[in-house]
Amino acid sequence: AREVVARFLGNHPEGGWLDPTTAAELLGHYAFPVSPWAWASDEAEAVQAAERLAGADGAVVMKAYWPGLVHKSALGAVVLDLRGPEQVRAAYGDLTRRFGDHMTGVVVQPLAGRGTELFAGVVQDAVFGPLVLFGLGGTATEVLTDHAARLAPLTDVDVRELMRSPRCAPLVFGHRGGGPLDVPGLEQVLLRLSRMACDLPELAEMDFNPVLARAESVVVVDARVRLR
Ligand code: ADP
Ligand code: MG
Repeated sequence: AREVVARFLGNHPEGGWLDPTTAAELLGHYAFPVSPWAWASDEAEAVQAAERLAGADGAVVMKAYWPGLVHKSALGAVVLDLRGPEQVRAAYGDLTRRFGDHMTGVVVQPLAGRGTELFAGVVQDAVFGPLVLFGLGGTATEVLTDHAARLAPLTDVDVRELMRSPRCAPLVFGHRGGGPLDVPGLEQVLLRLSRMACDLPELAEMDFNPVLARAESVVVVDARVRLR
């Protein structure tokens, strides 16, 4: 992980957001449960990636990427539920027409099944250092801010308190007959974020939004990492 950080900062001395490939490499060193994904920089690569990654129902997701892109879906840069090579080609063509001047390629992922959209991340506090955040996720999080925070490193007690703190906690632990989500899987994500933040002082901020959580598994479908 330190080697990935040193390489990125060697090329970007002022720091910045990691591209998808570098982010995936760094997150891989901490074994986060990230969605399978592939990078494609033309239509043929996108079709190949889709064939390889299609989920059980044959569907994939395509996300345009260019350096500095932050809120993809707000710009219409996320296309969900593509089935078959024709739809994949059409979506790639459409993204190229709309964003071609900036777009360097796309990320292809399997369409993940239903789940509860949660948020997990790290920010740096000027006084206290790294904080681990947890709360409600999805594209509405900016309006419905519902996050709790604990100082890193998190103990086993901290991680449980952190997960009980946001208003969305009943969604995680079960309410109205809905059983709990994968609490051990979420705890593991938060503990690994804590570990990563403590290992890497160059980590300026990162967020997983959403972490899709279900009763038996969690998967990170969108990850952003900024180094300094
Ligand atoms: P951004 O946050 O930059 O707008 P995301 O990658 O988070 O883009 O995608 C926006 C939304 O699309 C997510 O909140 C989620 O609801 C949905 N989404 C993204 N990737 C997947 C996926 N692989 N499977 C299912 N839904 C997805
Ligand atoms: Mg997102």
